[in-house]
Formats: sequence, structure tokens, C-alpha cells
Amino acid sequence: MSEEHRGIWVFAEVIDGAIAGVSLELLGAGRELADKLDVPLAGVLLGENITHLSEQLIPYGADEVYIIDDPVLKDYRTEPFLAGMGKLARMYVPEIILYGATPNGKDIASAIATDLKTGLTADCTMLGVDIENRLLEASRPAFGGNIMATILCKKHRPQMATVRPKVMKALQPDPARKGMVLKEKLEMKEAEIRTKVLEIIKGPGKSVDLEGADVIVCGGKGMGDEQAFQLIHQLADTIGASVGGTRDAVEARWISHDHQVGQTGETVTPKIYFAIGVSGAIQHTVGMKNSELIIAINKDPDAPIFDVATYGIVGDARETVPVMIKAFEELLR
Ligand code: FAD
Repeated sequence: MSEEHRGIWVFAEVIDGAIAGVSLELLGAGRELADKLDVPLAGVLLGENITHLSEQLIPYGADEVYIIDDPVLKDYRTEPFLAGMGKLARMYVPEIILYGATPNGKDIASAIATDLKTGLTADCTMLGVDIENRLLEASRPAFGGNIMATILCKKHRPQMATVRPKVMKALQPDPARKGMVLKEKLEMKEAEIRTKVLEIIKGPGKSVDLEGADVIVCGGKGMGDEQAFQLIHQLADTIGASVGGTRDAVEARWISHDHQVGQTGETVTPKIYFAIGVSGAIQHTVGMKNSELIIAINKDPDAPIFDVATYGIVGDARETVPVMIKAFEELLR
């Protein structure tokens, strides 16, 4: 570890020719850390014909963009991306590197950690910084999700973390922001790379699009039984929302796993999230707490879900939800 390590980097992942949403979210989180540490924030862009994308990174908070634009980086492969990131990291010695916890983000982050002999905290849901000791505080659920662990990398640099999509917030883009673009070369030949991409075949899309939903009605074990859980579907149908479920509702087989919200399900950020008969366990709230507006219905006034809710209704969901359905039907008629 040396004193010369300075600056925060975000690996700017390119998916289908555009910057991945999680990379923009990480620029938002990185901006806050960079301001606290008083260092520049950089986006790192690797790919083919991607130089123009630097124009997206600066408005979202980057002070600098490091680019390697090379045909061998056309599709993601570990070897050339590792060579490119490794080269840049050795040349410019950043203090912290953040990656989206996407399949490619996880792959490159673990390869870089091995290459640079440094630590990596995977799948974080919170980031902070100890300013005095210049330590990244990377938090993630641990021990079966029962506690939040904050992990430090005290002896090696760069400090690195992968962060789940949708848990951080992107900044409002500022088109007037100015930044510096630095281009480097890779000098790696196609013949040196052992992996060839012959074809990319897209898998079937998800049957449930919770991630993109504006309104989600989520039902928990407090609905009591499968029949009462139908009220969740009815409310969602009435207001044109998607249906979510807690893990306990999924385990009770009231709803399928692709509707599960939380640590082992989807992370969602709708405009409105109804949490009905949901206790608010941390493994659930990590997946929905960034929703714009949260309305919770629970018969227990001390249920933890009320700690993250914007509005709370203390009452029996089996009585409250039919009243809501009727009211919305009349309102929307
Ligand atoms: P409960 O905890 O049983 O809560 C039911 C709530 O309903 C209570 O607050 C109760 O007061 C209320 N209630 C009861 N009757 C009524 C009524 N008639 N009207 C109104 N309210 C009522 N959970 C997830 O959701 N998503 C995950 O991804 C997830 N991943 C996990 C990963 C791990 C490793 C572990 C260990 C756990 C995970 N869990 C997850 C489980 C999580 O810890 C909780 O057990 C789960 O979220 C609880 O579900 P629930 O709120 O539906 O049920």
C-alpha cells in the first residue's frame, strides 16, 4: 500500500451500447465519497467505439474519464478487460474502485482483485468512508442476512467493492459539468486472447418486470392465507400495479419466486410501494427502501416496516385492502 493512491473510480459498464444504470448510480455514490475525501471521481470506460459515452459520465458526476477504445474490447471478456483495467490502475493508482454487481462487473472486479492483490467486498448495499483513515466502509448483509457487516480493506489498495444495482441513487445529470478525458492504448492482439465470442444469444426476458414497475403492491405473510393474498392481486389490478411478495409469502406458495422482493429477490425502486402484511425484515427492506413513496399496512404498530414507510396504516389488511380496492375503483371509474 502506498500514499500515492488517490482518486475514486467507477467501472462504467456498457450494455447494448449504453452506460449501465448501475454505473450511473455508482457515480452518484462515488461523487459523495470523492467530495468527502477531496479527490477526483473518474469513470473508466472500456469497449469498442465507446469514446462518445464519456459525455454521459461527466454530467452524472465524473471529473475524469479514462478510456480504452479498442476492437478487442468489443464484447466483454475477462482477459482483455482485465488487461485494460489492470494497465490503467497501475498507471493512475486509484484509491477506491467501484463496480456494479452485474455478472460482468463481478467478473472483472474479482479478476482485478486477484491481479492487484487487493481486497474486494461483494454485493454491497451501503457505502461510507472513514475520512481520517481514508478507508472505504463497504456494508453488506452477512451471516445469512441476519446482520449488516461493514468491511474495511486496511492494508491493500485500491479498496474495491461491487454494489447491487438500484440501491444507490444516480445524480440528476448536469449538462454544464466539465471534465477531463484521458485515452490510453491497450496493445493486446486478438490472437493473444483465448476466449472468442462467436454469438450472443439473449435469454428469455423475465416473466415479471418488477425492476421497471412504477407501482408495486407487495403482500406478506400477514395476509394469512392464499385466498386473502388474492386481495393483493385485486388491488394491483385495480391500480395497474405489479405484484410483489416477501420470501415468507413465496415459501407459503402464495406467489412465485420471480415476484420476491429483497436480498434474495429483486431490488426495486418504484414511485409507490405498498407493503401489506409485511413485517419489514432487513432482508426485505434492502430490496425496496429506496422506493419514492412507501405505504405500509400492518396490524402491529411497532412493525419495523413503519421505520421505512412514508405513510403507515395500522390495521387488519384483510379489512383495509377491500376498502381501498372499492375506493380506487370509484376514483378511477
Ligand atoms: P412476517 O415476518 O411473518 O410478518 C408478517 C407481518 O404481517 C407482521 O409484521 C404482522 O404484524 C403483520 N400482520 C399479521 N396479520 C396481519 C393482518 N391481518 N393485517 C396486517 N398485518 C398483519 N425476505 C424477503 O422478503 N425477501 C428476501 O429476499 C429475503 N431474503 C432472505 C435471505 C436470507 C439469507 C434470510 C435469512 C432471510 C431472508 N428473508 C427475505 C426473510 C426475512 O428475514 C423475513 O423472514 C421475511 O421478509 C418476513 O416475511 P413477512 O414480512 O411476509 O412475514
